[in-house]
Amino acid sequence: MSHSCRLEQSVYNGMLHKLSAYTTAFALIAALTAYADSRTQLKPGWNLFSTEQDVEMGLEVAKQAEIKLPILNDPSATAYINRLGKQLVARAPHNDPHYVWQFKIVNDRNINAFALPGGLIYINRGVFESAENEAQLAGVIAHETGHVVLRHGTSQVSKAYIAQAPLSIIGGVLGSNSVGSVLAQLGIQFATNSILLKYSRDAEQQADIVGVQILHDSGYHPLAMVQFFETIQAQSKGRASEFFSDHPNPENRINYVQAEIEKLGGPPPNARADSPDFHEIKNRLMSLADTRPR
Ligand code: ZN
Repeated sequence: MSHSCRLEQSVYNGMLHKLSAYTTAFALIAALTAYADSRTQLKPGWNLFSTEQDVEMGLEVAKQAEIKLPILNDPSATAYINRLGKQLVARAPHNDPHYVWQFKIVNDRNINAFALPGGLIYINRGVFESAENEAQLAGVIAHETGHVVLRHGTSQVSKAYIAQAPLSIIGGVLGSNSVGSVLAQLGIQFATNSILLKYSRDAEQQADIVGVQILHDSGYHPLAMVQFFETIQAQSKGRASEFFSDHPNPENRINYVQAEIEKLGGPPPNARADSPDFHEIKNRLMSLADTRPR
C-alpha cells in the first residue's frame, strides 16, 4: 500500500515536473512572441475635435467632394469593397465605435485613393485595375484606414484653424467645439482642401506603418504593399495622383515598410494574397465604360 503510495507520489511528482516544464516552455514561447512583435506604436496627434466630430466633419466634406466625384454605383463591387474594408478595419488600432466605415469606388482610372475623417474611404477604379491581387488592394485600403484612425484629417483642420483664427474664437471653439462654426470660419473649400490635398510626409509614413500592421493582423502578406508601390512606380507615369505624390522616395518607403514587417516578426503564417472575388470584381470594373479619359 505504502509502496503503491510512494509510486503514486513519484508519478505525481513526475507529472508536476512535466507540468512545470510545460509552464516554462509556454512562458518562453510567450516571451519570444512578445519579443517578435515589437511593432511601432503610433497614436493620433493633437486635435481640437472629438471622434464624433470626425464623423460630422467627414460627412460634411463628403457632401462637397461627391458633387465632383463620379461615384461608381455597382452593387456587387460596392458590396465587395465594403466586405473587404470592414474586415481590415476590424484589425485597426485606435478604431472608434463612432466611425462609420463606408467604402466607395470612384469611376476614375487614375491610381488614387483617399480617406475622409470618421471612416469614409474612396478608392479609384484605377487601383483595382492596377492591383495584381487582393492583398495589394487591401494594402491601399489599410493605408487609408491608417489616416482615419490616426485622425490626420481633423488634426490638419485643427492646425489650419489655430493658425488662422484669433485667440478669442479658439477659446469659443474649444468651449463649444462646433464643426459647423469651424468650417464656416475656415471656409468649407479651404477645410476640404486641407483634408484632401496633402498630408505631411510624416503622416504618410505613419499611414503606411499602420497599414502594414493592419495587413499583417488581417492575415495578408504585408509585402503586398511594397509590391503595389513597385507596380505603381513602373506603370503610373502621370496616372498616379495624391496617393503617391507626397510620399518619401519609393526606396525609402519600401525600406521602412520592410523594417516594420520585421518588427512584426515577419509575415503571418499562411499569409493570404488573393481571392477569386477580387478577380471577378476587377474584371467587372475593367469592362465598364470610362467616365474620365486616361
Ligand atoms: Zn496617404
